[in-house]
Amino acid sequence: MKQSQETASTGTPTETVEAKSLTENAGDRYELPELKPVGSVEPGKWMRSIVIKDEITRYLNADGTDFINDSKIRTLIEDADRAKSENTEVDRKQIDDIVAKSKSIKSLTLEEAAVLMRIRDPETRAALAETALSIKKRVYDNRIVTFAPLYISNDCVNTCRYCGFRHDNGCMKRQRLSMDEIREEVKVMVGTLGHKRMVLDVGEHPDSDYDYLMHAMDTIYSVSVPTRTRAAANIRRINLNVAPMSIEHLGMLKEVGLGTFQVFQETYDRDLYAKLHPGNSPKSDYRWRLYCMHRAMDAGVDDVGLGALFGLTDWRFELLGLLSHTRELESRYNGVGAHTISFPRLRSAQNAPYLSETKSIMSDDDFLWLLTLLRLCVPYTGLICTAREPKEVREEALKRGITQMDASSKIGIGAYARSAKNQEEDRQQFMLGDGRSLEELIGDLADAGSITSFCTAGYRIGRRGGKIMRLLRDCSEGNFCKLNAIITFREWLDDFAGPEVKAKGEALIARELDEAKKKLPQFMNQFEPMYQKTIHGCRDLYL
Ligand code: SF4
Repeated sequence: MKQSQETASTGTPTETVEAKSLTENAGDRYELPELKPVGSVEPGKWMRSIVIKDEITRYLNADGTDFINDSKIRTLIEDADRAKSENTEVDRKQIDDIVAKSKSIKSLTLEEAAVLMRIRDPETRAALAETALSIKKRVYDNRIVTFAPLYISNDCVNTCRYCGFRHDNGCMKRQRLSMDEIREEVKVMVGTLGHKRMVLDVGEHPDSDYDYLMHAMDTIYSVSVPTRTRAAANIRRINLNVAPMSIEHLGMLKEVGLGTFQVFQETYDRDLYAKLHPGNSPKSDYRWRLYCMHRAMDAGVDDVGLGALFGLTDWRFELLGLLSHTRELESRYNGVGAHTISFPRLRSAQNAPYLSETKSIMSDDDFLWLLTLLRLCVPYTGLICTAREPKEVREEALKRGITQMDASSKIGIGAYARSAKNQEEDRQQFMLGDGRSLEELIGDLADAGSITSFCTAGYRIGRRGGKIMRLLRDCSEGNFCKLNAIITFREWLDDFAGPEVKAKGEALIARELDEAKKKLPQFMNQFEPMYQKTIHGCRDLYL
């Protein structure tokens, strides 16, 4: 265990205060590439340079096929449909054996997942939702990690038929934020809202390529704002949700402090994929996207986030596609599969033709059943439920074992610093469903007995990739995380909470401390001085 530098707050608040960046904390050094001026690269030429065939073919099966086995997935779905039409219920013993495997924190095979998928009995489904939550508590305790998205450019060369950012949507107001504008966004996110983690989003475009992302990340990590306790507030982890990249560029992004690299396949159904991503843009290449996590692993980025956009096709195909993907990564990379899985549902977006064509809009019941199944299929993987979903659905999702939620989210370009209406269809990718502030979410989570964690320690002291997977699988990761959650929650309560949420939070911390003393006595000698220092204004202490 290791302790970070202490950033005690002293002096008079100023507009910004000096803080060490994540990469400086780690003692790393990197050189930023030259930032290409906006419009200086011809998009057509740039697009032709993106896909590197050798960085696909090296990962194919010996017979040239992919790890996504379409015919096997289709057969499993057809079997489920046949069982439904014959009114056959799944054998109880078979269910118990599979769930026992989930409880031992092992990922399920496609065949096992397909058996669970066939369950229709409401009581069995409800019992499995409870099991899913109990597994989440064993692996992740009662913590929920929060973050916020930051969209910094909506220019995109692709023409995804479900997205408002797509190139041929002439009504979208295009904008790429300058580094000064990014700084203004981050000041609001860290200084007013209190976020410590963000996921950075851009469209795929030469003006928002790896060079722009590296400058943006360097800028974001450099922003530090004094809070009311005069402590320095800053972003401690940046995850990226961007386009697939080459091994070389992923390695460069890692140097600047890339946390989790997220790329969602959108759909694993390759025929539908081709229809939804027409033309010759980089995204039209199914395999370039499918193997981007292999490239990330080979670049040393070992926290990767998978996802699919639910509502494009039969949700069961995507579930089995996601499971195939994480099992493929596990088998190739020493047991390191997906660090997180996201499951956004298709939402209203400006001028997105596929929204009126799809026959696969997912009901709330199916969505919540999907979350139960995901938790059972990949018991140790973080599950992210974003503010795309309405509050009521997210509250139910909490009961199925999700681990991460965003709040105070704005997804318009420049929307945090601009005092504009919350949602603007002509500047954002889709419309949000849950408008709760971070403070409201934290209060609601406290009411439900969940502690909000802002901890970013694990990644910064090497608990990532294979190490974090091992800790998650043997359910010991929660030991560190419980104590770090308490410290970071204390920080947030002191720096940002209003009286009502602070009172709720303090009652929750008192319970957490009691539990920690009983369950984790071996760590208390290290924890207690850190906690006391935090109360007195030191920040960013962790075990
Ligand atoms: S989904 Fe992504 S790649 Fe496709 S148009 Fe939208 S921003 Fe571009």
